[in-house]
Amino acid sequence: MSQLFAVIGNPIEHSRSPMIHQSFARQLGIDLTYEKIWAAIDGFEEVVHAFRERGGRGMNVTVPFKLEAFDLADRRSPRAERALAANTLVFPAAPDEPVYADNTDGIGLVNDLSFHGVTLADKRILVLGAGGATRGVLAPLLEQAPQEILVANRNPERAYGLVDEFSDAAGACRLSGCPIEGIEESLFDLIINATPASLTAQLPPLPETVVGASTVAYDMAYGAEPTVFMQWAEARGGQPLDGLGMLVEQAAESFYLWHGQRPDTAPVREALRQSIRKKADQEG
Ligand code: NDP
Repeated sequence: MSQLFAVIGNPIEHSRSPMIHQSFARQLGIDLTYEKIWAAIDGFEEVVHAFRERGGRGMNVTVPFKLEAFDLADRRSPRAERALAANTLVFPAAPDEPVYADNTDGIGLVNDLSFHGVTLADKRILVLGAGGATRGVLAPLLEQAPQEILVANRNPERAYGLVDEFSDAAGACRLSGCPIEGIEESLFDLIINATPASLTAQLPPLPETVVGASTVAYDMAYGAEPTVFMQWAEARGGQPLDGLGMLVEQAAESFYLWHGQRPDTAPVREALRQSIRKKADQEG
């Protein structure tokens, strides 16, 4: 019998998760239904409850419900505990058994970087933004033993707060924060844009010196065309990557939690890229 899964968010219409999970399922011969579910800002728990009543076995959770998903769970993975947020819920068949929460965003980023051959040990990393996405990726990045992570944010207090919170996981890595206008003028190996600025074609204020030929410029946003951040970095010799692969890799990790099988992400990345371009062509 087909098992029921969904992604929940507000807004949710844009979500590519159904396509990704259905592609994984076809690849591995798993029978599942995967829905998009919209919930009112104050309606998360009620909608989750109704989904479980219908036999739902798992949910991906997106903006703005990741904190509520974390709170709703009875048990949480160490990486969800670290992020204080969850993007994956696992519902047991019996309604009285504990709900499990995980956060696969960070491992999604690390796996995507690895897919592109980017290693992080001993590297200098600049992270732009100190919101939920940065919170989710800091611990998995630190686990890769980089030489330095500098978190730069518009509101520097949020960057300093995250640095304090994650300092115990830093090991030998130099973890520090700064205002986004105060980024030091030196070369980084990897710059991660974890702000939504690209979605409105805005570029965070960056010194020219942060990017060079060896710099990977990773934008968590993605679209049919390279983002303004990717274009800015490429024009200065950097190697641009967008967040499409992170989306597919975090989904693959959720899929593994639910089904115990690891899909091949390469064909799904390609299909998703083509689908996004096709949609943009139709709209353009
Ligand atoms: P949040 O709203 O939690 O945080 C946004 C952060 O970006 C804040 O630190 C904010 O600064 C900063 N910011 C917002 N706008 C600007 C701007 N115009 N210029 C400079 N800084 C800005 O968002 P998330 O952390 O949840 O998400 C960030 C991005 O990452 C989104 O685009 C999201 O879609 C993407 N993402 C992609 C994923 C993927 O799989 N590819 C997974 C998760 C996220 P301040 O604190 O000063 O307000």
